[in-house]
Amino acid sequence: MRVVRIGSVEVLPLVDTYLLGDPRIFMPKHAEAFLGEYPHLLDERGLLRMTITCFLVRSAGKTWLVDTGIGPRRRPNFPAGKLDQALREAGLGPADIDGVIHTHLHIDHVGWNTVPGPDGAPQPYFPRAEHRAQRAEWQFWMRPEHLEGDAQPHLAECVAPVADRFRLQDGEEAIDDHLVFVPAPGHTPGHVAIGIASQGERALIVGDASHHPVQLDHPDWSPAFDVDPDLAARTRARLFDDAASDGRVWMAGHWPDSGIGRIVRVDGRRVFRAL
Ligand SMILES: [Zn+2]
Repeated sequence: MRVVRIGSVEVLPLVDTYLLGDPRIFMPKHAEAFLGEYPHLLDERGLLRMTITCFLVRSAGKTWLVDTGIGPRRRPNFPAGKLDQALREAGLGPADIDGVIHTHLHIDHVGWNTVPGPDGAPQPYFPRAEHRAQRAEWQFWMRPEHLEGDAQPHLAECVAPVADRFRLQDGEEAIDDHLVFVPAPGHTPGHVAIGIASQGERALIVGDASHHPVQLDHPDWSPAFDVDPDLAARTRARLFDDAASDGRVWMAGHWPDSGIGRIVRVDGRRVFRAL
């Protein structure tokens, strides 16, 4: 078990699944530059190792889960998730989760909110959990054009069935005494990072503000999934530089090995030092 302590807060990364990303699909606008500069990061098929990590956070007497992965269902281009197994290995079950905090409502961040019940209908996986998300994110994805049709099946399967459990918050609001929403828009309109502060120590669970460490050198390399690529690039650069300036622990769930470490400046470049 790899527990990271931030003052009195404990963070445990729980890997839902590993995946291999194709830079040509993942960031098509920058794929050529990527392949030219980072061939050593690609396997023999030209694919890039990535992770879908959820973070278990024990704070102020409660057990939170930040994001719930791709989930148990087979989705196009994703292996099915194994968060249930990761929880068991941590000695926990779904009833131990007091609350779920969503950085945003994409398919790979809400997957375990529900599981198919005996009749196939989605039922809540975390029986006691309240869910927290940003109001702007909720309002964006609950528009009819997103709810209708086949493009966003996870909204009907993993979000709508637990809609009455969501508590919506605005901007930089506190979640508890140590956890706070940090607005990080661009990837989606209401995308947030989760700030942790306790006993003078700080950390940031960055959500999808960054998908890969190559963005340390190229914060403008926004993936195809960023709703507003220019805003996402500005947000990304700001979060990198904030982390480099105060030494807060960086936790990036899609980076290889869950991206837990510090961002430092070496000869003017941003460099990641894993913990
Ligand atoms: Zn994601």
